Amino acid sequence: MIKVHILPCGSTVVDEALPFSSKSKNPLAFTGILRGKKHRISVPVTAYLIEHPKGLVLVDTGWDESIRKNARKYEGFFNYFASPGFLPDGEGIVDQLTKRGYRISDIQYCVLTHMDIDHAGGIRHVKNAKHIMCSNAEWNAANKSNPRYLKRLWMGMNIQTFPDKEYDLFGDGTVILLPMHGHSAGMTAVKVSNGTEYVLIAGDCGYGRPSWEDQILPGVEWNRNEAKKSLEKLRQFGIDPSCKGILMTHDPEHSSGSIEL
Ligand SMILES: [Zn+2]
Repeated sequence: MIKVHILPCGSTVVDEALPFSSKSKNPLAFTGILRGKKHRISVPVTAYLIEHPKGLVLVDTGWDESIRKNARKYEGFFNYFASPGFLPDGEGIVDQLTKRGYRISDIQYCVLTHMDIDHAGGIRHVKNAKHIMCSNAEWNAANKSNPRYLKRLWMGMNIQTFPDKEYDLFGDGTVILLPMHGHSAGMTAVKVSNGTEYVLIAGDCGYGRPSWEDQILPGVEWNRNEAKKSLEKLRQFGIDPSCKGILMTHDPEHSSGSIEL
């Protein structure tokens, strides 16, 4: 049996135009520029733990614990202004694993959907995982000069990359890494399957059911066309009767709980 746990890892505050961006006519609304506090909303941040017979897989890490002390310093001005993070006690990635009886060194693979700080922010906490991975395209983009990415977070760490095509993690079709580029250069979704049914962990391809039902772009797009193609793929998954759920990092409807496959 395979079990997918949704791990609540704090929250972030974003402009209300970000999750379902078509609501706003202000093209820069998602950045928070020229927008009042009344337009700000809190959304969850989640990571995922896959209990799999061949090993534990962690998808994303949530925030670094140091944001509790000084989020602005940790995130840097650009990121803090756009989406300040919050991490209550007990919701750090280590806490979440400890609650379930695991240590970081028990993790076979930590797969990062992409390298934004609300997903890869806790990377130093998982440095004892056996493998830490992101897609090749994401790695290349994240190491260029771009205020969105904080290279200092992974400096000196051994991050492995996987190719920008479907990648079968265990070689048996149960955990497939899928390129779903657009929100970021190398955004990756994780399809967890028991052969008949599956769950799709879709990171920031969207922010909830309206994203794929109404084809609403994620607001932050590295490449708009790619993001559109990924949303269409998401819609296909969403209407597939074998799909037991599409889990997105900031979706309040899927911010805790477990799914068995
Ligand atoms: Zn995110």
